[in-house]
Amino acid sequence: MTRLLLLGGGHAHALVLLKFRNFISKNLQVTLVNAGPVHTYSGMVPGVIAGHYAADHAQIDLARLARGAGAQFVRGRVQRLDPAAKEVVLEGGDVLGYDVVSLNLGSVPAGLHEHAVAAKPFEGFMAHWRELLGKGPESPRIAVLGAGAGGVELAMAMKFALAGRGRVAIFSDRNVFPVAVAERVRNALERLAIELRTDAPAPSAFDAMFRVTGASALPLLRESGLKTDEKGYVLVDASLRSVSHPDVFGAGDNASLEGAALPKSGVYAVRQGAVLAENLKRVVRGMPMLDYVPRADSLSLISCGAKYAIASRGGWSAEGRWAWWWKDWLDRRWVARFR
Ligand SMILES: Cc1cc2nc3c(=O)[nH]c(=O)nc-3n(C[C@H](O)[C@H](O)[C@H](O)COP(=O)(O)OP(=O)(O)OC[C@H]3O[C@@H](n4cnc5c(N)ncnc54)[C@H](O)[C@@H]3O)c2cc1C
Repeated sequence: MTRLLLLGGGHAHALVLLKFRNFISKNLQVTLVNAGPVHTYSGMVPGVIAGHYAADHAQIDLARLARGAGAQFVRGRVQRLDPAAKEVVLEGGDVLGYDVVSLNLGSVPAGLHEHAVAAKPFEGFMAHWRELLGKGPESPRIAVLGAGAGGVELAMAMKFALAGRGRVAIFSDRNVFPVAVAERVRNALERLAIELRTDAPAPSAFDAMFRVTGASALPLLRESGLKTDEKGYVLVDASLRSVSHPDVFGAGDNASLEGAALPKSGVYAVRQGAVLAENLKRVVRGMPMLDYVPRADSLSLISCGAKYAIASRGGWSAEGRWAWWWKDWLDRRWVARFR
């Protein structure tokens, strides 16, 4: 019997479980390990904060998804991966052995700030936001660290949810958007009276501070001894297989494709998920691997608090209410696949 261990219930593994329905037999044992019982879909988190969606509309029930595929679900946090012993150790000490392991554990916000709540894990972040709304000051002063797509989306969602109360400021030392998109984002922030500070570190005179800085690698990846890139992400080849350990696969934020500098975004995790599912089936059957070929660019949709969004792809950009409805349709369709 082959034991396939799926670590992390991110976008790619959600897709793997969907595609493994009717594939799992008595010769194959599949186990999914995830820190919590649900996967929160990042694309809809700003919409939850803005009040457009209930939190569970943005969540996938992983235990149910695993059950539907005939896989086991283990709720636990992966602490250590030992590819030499082919073992995974969970927080609390449980040890899981495997024949093939696949990593879809995501990433964590970069940097450290002792007073700031990290945007990930989203479940903790959303709980913190609810508490601030319920028990915090009437007009809270909020600082958001990081002005990437996630940072500006969350800042605008918070300001929109406060409906004219409070103050939101974004602190960042860089611009990550192409010129035309950066201008649209600046205008959208101005319309909501959100301050964008690129010249100063965040002071501590805030009621809440949230960290939405760019992605960084989970330390356990580098500590495992798997070959990683210079940032600590597991290096995989075109078949999404570890370049150092062929029985280890990886997709999404926690993996870096050798020779390609892909952005850490859910769009890539989804596209890799389809190839990963096929290759995990193939490795079980002893068949040759498929290659994942990244597309040159991808559609980006930045929600602006209200039901309004900025769309861009390559050198093209546009904005309007239609862009929000487009995003809403794509996001809800994605989550609905797993219900
Ligand atoms: C506010 C915000 C909005 C964003 N919006 C978008 C967007 O609209 N479009 C887009 O393409 N990208 C977006 N992103 C980026 C996106 O979140 C990531 O690129 C994407 O989630 C990566 O997907 P993944 O499948 O690799 O991992 P994830 O979606 O992060 O999933 C990883 C899973 O692993 C689990 N896990 C983590 N560590 C452990 C552990 N040690 N043990 C067990 N389980 C663990 C987590 O609980 C989680 O369920 C956004 C990011 C932020 C912060």
